Amino acid sequence: MIEFQNVTKIYPNQNRAALESVDMTINKGEFVFLVGPSGSGKSSFLRLILREERPNDGRIMVAGNDLAKLTNWKVPALRRKIGCVFQDFRLLPSKTVEQNVAFALEVIGKPRRFIKRVVPEVLDLVGLEGKHDRMPDELSGGEQQRVAMARAFVNRPMILLADEPTGNIDPATSIGIMKVLDRINRTGTTVVMATHDAAIVDSMRKRVIELEYGKVVRDQNRGVYGQNY
Ligand code: ADP
Ligand code: ADP
Repeated sequence: MIEFQNVTKIYPNQNRAALESVDMTINKGEFVFLVGPSGSGKSSFLRLILREERPNDGRIMVAGNDLAKLTNWKVPALRRKIGCVFQDFRLLPSKTVEQNVAFALEVIGKPRRFIKRVVPEVLDLVGLEGKHDRMPDELSGGEQQRVAMARAFVNRPMILLADEPTGNIDPATSIGIMKVLDRINRTGTTVVMATHDAAIVDSMRKRVIELEYGKVVRDQNRGVYGQNY
């Protein structure tokens, strides 16, 4: 589903590579934690998958597309196959829960009937039944992240990228967030989650890829967080 072949990313005017000769394959349906100290290249890895950045060297394949050969007009189609969840939720503050999720489908031109059917289904999946008409500022952080996950998943993406999704959430609530990500993963969606949350990584026992100075220093099945950063 995601393949990096000898990928190097050096930002303009930087002398150190953000990612250096990275080789890895993430298969369809996997759940992968991306760990490593701040500045080790985790966000760069995610941005390369979305083609928000381009590598200086190497090849990146995502959902069967060679990203170097993807024309600009096909990039939106690539991004529709990739849901994104962030540390800071990024909800639309003047729209309700339901409208926030529906909007993700409206902008890609889905029919109104379809939207009316699938939005309640996905809100149930993330555990927001009964909260459809709330505004984001009437929700807890954990509930806001559930809305963000519903929005990211409502279009049934092949891949879900999560960048520190539990970063602003207390430990007890984070467990619920991870249950939702696990549920999404069980539908066949490949999940890649960058995190500093050692307790979460240790409790899930999924594949762990560790970056350090832009290099893969560990790739472990049923892994743990490792050293403390
Ligand atoms: P992480 O997500 O693990 O904190 P990043 O991918 O954000 O790591 O950063 C990797 C390296 O690339 C760091 O040295 C960072 O300073 C640098 N970097 C990231 N984004 C940019 C950018 N837009 N311009 C220049 N340097 C960047
Ligand atoms: P940007 O202007 O930075 O692309 P957006 O608000 O358009 O900001 O998107 C926020 C994030 O979601 C970005 O990382 C973007 O690549 C990603 N994204 C945009 N559109 C989609 C989509 N249809 N499906 C999944 N991710 C998307």
